[in-house]
Amino acid sequence: MAHPKRRISNQRKHKRRTHDKVEEQQISVCSNCGAPVLYHRVCTECGSYRGSQAIVKETNL
Ligand SMILES: [Zn+2]
Repeated sequence: MAHPKRRISNQRKHKRRTHDKVEEQQISVCSNCGAPVLYHRVCTECGSYRGSQAIVKETNL
């Protein structure tokens, strides 16, 4: 079986895949309708993003 030559230090172990680790979600308020929205996401209530209508929300479903 393959065997590591050197022990991985605690610091190196904890730095592994830090770019994948879940961070706290950043929540903002939609400037159009005032609903809470995640940063860098289209508003799920009205479909606006950075002051423009990014998607048209389907209704009557
Ligand atoms: Zn909105």
